[in-house]
Amino acid sequence: MTIGVLGAGQLGRMLALAGYPLGLDFLFLDAQPGTPANQVAPQLTGSFTDPSLLADLAGRCQVVTFDWENVPAAALDVLEAKVAIAPPRAALATAQDRLLEKQLFARLGIATNASQPVDSLADLNRAVATIGLPGVLKTRRLGYDGKGQCVLRRSGDVNKAWAELGNAPLLYEQLVPFDYEVSAIGVRGRDGEFAMYPLNRNLHEGGILRLTRAPWKAPRLEAAARRTIRRVMEHFSYVGVLAIEFFVHRGRLLANEMAPRVHNSGHWTIEGAVTSQFENHLRAIAGLPLGSTAARGHSAMLNLIGTMPERHKLLDEPGLHLHDYGKTARPGRKLGHMTIVESTSIKAAARAQRLLRRLQSRKI
Ligand code: AMP
Repeated sequence: MTIGVLGAGQLGRMLALAGYPLGLDFLFLDAQPGTPANQVAPQLTGSFTDPSLLADLAGRCQVVTFDWENVPAAALDVLEAKVAIAPPRAALATAQDRLLEKQLFARLGIATNASQPVDSLADLNRAVATIGLPGVLKTRRLGYDGKGQCVLRRSGDVNKAWAELGNAPLLYEQLVPFDYEVSAIGVRGRDGEFAMYPLNRNLHEGGILRLTRAPWKAPRLEAAARRTIRRVMEHFSYVGVLAIEFFVHRGRLLANEMAPRVHNSGHWTIEGAVTSQFENHLRAIAGLPLGSTAARGHSAMLNLIGTMPERHKLLDEPGLHLHDYGKTARPGRKLGHMTIVESTSIKAAARAQRLLRRLQSRKI
């Protein structure tokens, strides 16, 4: 079976690496040559809306998925007539637009922070008056890793934020003084079989995920996350992996956003779970039975951002699993990650802190 993948970044690369042992083949489509996925799998290179490339992809694959949620709807129009797409388009369309996401959460009774759409400076002033300060102005579409976001702390920030982001549809939302952040990763098969990984506790720096620890043992939050993710999946008759990021605020979950794909906070599952999120996504979309989502220990995953540390210094660390995405270094760019799996959460946390300090002081 050949899996078509729209977008050929590191998520696609890890999907292919997880799929080869199952006997699956891959064909990627991406606008850029030499992508992380193209280093390990064949790729069609060109626009996501090129009808001949899309027809080629559809003709050579049994199912098409994506490693990037901003795939243009036009690409999916062409593909859908010819080949199965998973996860479903409606989930993708919702995740592409922060306003639709918030509306979905509201419709499904999922708690989230207050927000209002903003299409003019007058809208922004109204939103700030209703929701208050501090808040975050975000582009509705195409934001990631904290890009397309502006924090407003005082009324003087309104005009500055508008000048920075005002030429796109926006959403103004309450800045949540969260205790910490968690994410939930679920998987649903074609027959409705459902499983969720243990909860992830995430630390972001400048809007970019830096550290994930899992399992994060918070039974009440995990049960709430499970109900939420299940509700969203059932709403879409979802097939594949879905991630939802939450703020933990006063002991309650507030949904921040969803990603209809494998997720950075689930990278630890490659070494730290019985079946990785990548393998389970493939099992789901290929109509295969799901694998166990149980953890195999206590994991910590650290992203390597901006510069790639020297390999020999990283691999000096006993039991460290290094993933180099084969990307050119650029400030703020995710270039790789590393995972350690320990026998207790205390050991994993201490090791993660030590690794983080070594990374931050450029000692590795
Ligand atoms: P996002 O792209 O919305 O996931 O934002 C990236 C990160 O920025 C989040 O994981 C948070 O750490 C922070 N952030 C975004 N929106 C908010 C908010 N409304 N309140 C507090 N922190 C936020």
